Amino acid sequence: MATCLFGKQHNRPILPSLLHYAEGRFDPELTRMARLYTYWQRHGQSFDISAHYWDIAHELPARRGPVQLLKNLLREYGIEPLQPFLWKVDHTTINVDLTPDKINTFLRHTRNALWGKLAREREYYRGMEKGRDEQSTHAIREQLDEKRRAYLDIIQTDAVYTPARAHLRWGKQGHCPKCNNPTGDWKHYVDQCHATPRHAAGNPPGPDCLRYTGTVPTGYASLPLSLEQRQFAQRPQGCRHHHCCY
Ligand SMILES: [Zn+2]
Repeated sequence: MATCLFGKQHNRPILPSLLHYAEGRFDPELTRMARLYTYWQRHGQSFDISAHYWDIAHELPARRGPVQLLKNLLREYGIEPLQPFLWKVDHTTINVDLTPDKINTFLRHTRNALWGKLAREREYYRGMEKGRDEQSTHAIREQLDEKRRAYLDIIQTDAVYTPARAHLRWGKQGHCPKCNNPTGDWKHYVDQCHATPRHAAGNPPGPDCLRYTGTVPTGYASLPLSLEQRQFAQRPQGCRHHHCCY
């Protein structure tokens, strides 16, 4: 199991996969943070930390105790640790008298921070700097059969096996066999290749993450549409998510 989770994974996009499935429940980093939040809820008070020690804990050199570790991790995930039991997330200060629903708040924030990290590292997740809208991203699944859901998973985890990837990994020819374009990457198939079937109306504008991986970034689905976009989309009555109606 450990090898499976932490071993060298050159050929599979392990990071997006684990974050993608079950809202990240299998991601080792989220598991670690869940343990840490739960531990702090149960045992944090017994550390009896002075306000002064808490203030300087993250700057202490060399020896890393549990308090330093906790504080540094919170900061890394954009959670502001004001006091041992008073943390700030997205402009909201939460009294970390951690009930399970509050742990979920911190985990959701942590998961979005991990998506944000991927957005900075991987081209096809650009636009997800603030994380992923889980509900909107998964809305389309309901309309698909099992086989198409599997394809959707491959696309959403940025795992489509293209000639460009075969070239990088195995030294195979990287060009597109359909049109001979020198770079047969996923972008080519989405944007250019004549072999890809397309809607006559063309693709609506949107962030890269939605275009290439079908993932909806946090805050995108609730953005108000312009009048032209409204007419173009012709949303069914009551639909709040314009992306699912194209
Ligand atoms: Zn092509």
